[in-house]
Amino acid sequence: MSFESLGLCAELLSAIAAQGYTTPTPIQTQAIPVIFEGCDLLAGAQTGTGKTAAFALPIVQRLSEKVPPQKRRAPRALVLVPTRELAAQVSEQMQNYGRRLSLRSTMVYGGVNIQAQIERLHRGVDILVATPGRLLDHAERGTVDLSHIEFLVLDEADRMLDLGFIDDILRVAEYLPEQHQGLLFSATYSPSIRQLADELLDQPRRIEV
Ligand code: AMP
Repeated sequence: MSFESLGLCAELLSAIAAQGYTTPTPIQTQAIPVIFEGCDLLAGAQTGTGKTAAFALPIVQRLSEKVPPQKRRAPRALVLVPTRELAAQVSEQMQNYGRRLSLRSTMVYGGVNIQAQIERLHRGVDILVATPGRLLDHAERGTVDLSHIEFLVLDEADRMLDLGFIDDILRVAEYLPEQHQGLLFSATYSPSIRQLADELLDQPRRIEV
């Protein structure tokens, strides 16, 4: 299996080559076609498996197929992560892939002043990487518009539950439009992960690596 045969566009293939990746990892081989098909996904994947690129590449490609003309646009992809460290890692990959296709990405997380985040959100963004508590704060203040979200990713969902983010996640989900594609990544499957998947995903395809 090659990145070419996964149907990725030339701009992303060159980004991948520049990173020095030669072959897709198992999670990438399995998840990328499911995401391109438009199905919801429940993926069991540890960190270090290449899961970030597995969702970032197809999301960036799909979003690039129709970029809204206005500058101040609402996010169309939302990636929820447990920590600011993970937010930074995911955001870096989204920026790297997205800028080649004229997409903008930003991140919001707690523990820092909210004003700079409000200004960045106001300027317009396509991809938003966020920790649940701070995102809920923005949603409740009306400083982010989640009504255009097409992709919801829950990254390291088990860690988000361990950190007590379940209520924040479910409340954020109420701001999303009915129609969106849900992708949940977790290293472990507990009853509470299954419950979260039941709540947020629609007939998900399942992948284990
Ligand atoms: P992740 O599981 O997304 O945290 O990725 C773990 C590490 O694998 C990161 O340092 C990535 O840059 C790297 N990586 C992701 N996909 C590939 C690939 N196809 N080939 C080589 N390295 C990769």
